[in-house]
Amino acid sequence: MDGKKVVVVGAGPVGSLAALYAASRGATVEVYELRDDLRNLETSPLNFTKSINLALSERGINALRSTGNDELVETVFQNTIPMHGRMIHTRSATGALTEQSQLYDVHGRYQRSVDRGVLNGVLLNYLDALPNVKIFFQHKLTGADFRKKEAWFEVMDRTDGSSSTRPKEIAVTFDFLIGADGAHSSTRFHLMKFARVNYQQEYIDCLWCEFTMPPTRSGDFAISPNHLHIWPAASFMFIALPSTDKSFVCTLFGPVDMFVKLESAPDAELVSFFDKHFPGVTSQLAPNDLIAQFKQHPHLPLINIKCSPHHFGDSVVILGDAANAMVPFYGQGMNAGMESVRVLFSKLDATPDRAQALANYTEERTKDAHVVADLALGNYTEMRSSVTSPLYKLRKYIEER
Ligand code: FAD
Repeated sequence: MDGKKVVVVGAGPVGSLAALYAASRGATVEVYELRDDLRNLETSPLNFTKSINLALSERGINALRSTGNDELVETVFQNTIPMHGRMIHTRSATGALTEQSQLYDVHGRYQRSVDRGVLNGVLLNYLDALPNVKIFFQHKLTGADFRKKEAWFEVMDRTDGSSSTRPKEIAVTFDFLIGADGAHSSTRFHLMKFARVNYQQEYIDCLWCEFTMPPTRSGDFAISPNHLHIWPAASFMFIALPSTDKSFVCTLFGPVDMFVKLESAPDAELVSFFDKHFPGVTSQLAPNDLIAQFKQHPHLPLINIKCSPHHFGDSVVILGDAANAMVPFYGQGMNAGMESVRVLFSKLDATPDRAQALANYTEERTKDAHVVADLALGNYTEMRSSVTSPLYKLRKYIEER
């Protein structure tokens, strides 16, 4: 890649990591990001900086390590909290609150909870420090010709000093374009005009809403910090992941009908719904906060996308959610996207013919990515329901002996 111009579309976790990989191989890298710089929290509209805690697992960590930059990996780790297992919250037959810890690994390996925005910010900081990388925020990919190797971006032009914003379009040429622009990828849309892409998209019958559970009055974690907490309720669930400020980022997942009912129910009904199904939550997340957060925070859909191929010629490849967005129940969307970066560059390193390397990548990665996406769908049933079944507990008991 030495001396080649690589354009990365999307500066999310996957695009930022891909830019680091390309830069470390001597490419001149330009990253184009639709939104403002997420590190400037005050200047970005709230809905664009909405951050979620993610489970960072071995797939993602391995991809970070493969940058060869140990300091970067350490910086990421400093912003994470180990989660050694799941904590299942239920009520016993007598109505008492019960907590059951289910370790992830008999050998003590664990996942880490990380704020998506913080992880993304660390990657952007490392990109900023590289002389061969330029990042352009507020640049939206609007078109591309993958034969001519030219792409068009809409730029919010503020150079005239007026408060009104007026978009202008710029053309950018490249040797190789990496599309990491998320589930609603514009790169994928344009790729489909050049390659015969098979495409499958499904909205599952589930919405999600985020809540924050604050630290206790004494400033401590409200519940065990080293677990991913689950309140399973058969067809829906509530989960909580720890944050470094000792709060928890929690998520309510449930069918669309359930959300519709809760949205129109009186406030007290939301609280009693939580008390009935998610025991102990309202003693840590005060009812007024719970109601306010449910009303203020968006209720968002979950999408599953599969497509193939992921590339065209030697010109373009799509990665991360752009190539296969998956439901979050296996905690692998970002991890798998980062792994795709590692696999892509291993193919590019192994084969000087980039078109062949991209074909090899699509061939191997499509199958693997689809399997992870299917596992993620299956894990929804596991998390909201199977974790409480006696058979499951028996299996875990035997495994741990
Ligand atoms: P994104 O994070 O979507 O980033 C894409 C970037 O491209 C954005 O910055 C966007 O602004 C930019 N962009 C979009 N369009 C354009 C354009 N036209 N031009 C220029 N730029 C553009 N994953 C895990 O690994 N572990 C978890 O525990 C986990 N939990 C999750 C929980 C929830 C509730 C959800 C919804 C997802 C979860 N995920 C998890 C999935 C994870 O968030 C995504 O897989 C990950 O963010 C994908 O990263 P990405 O960089 O591919 O895409």
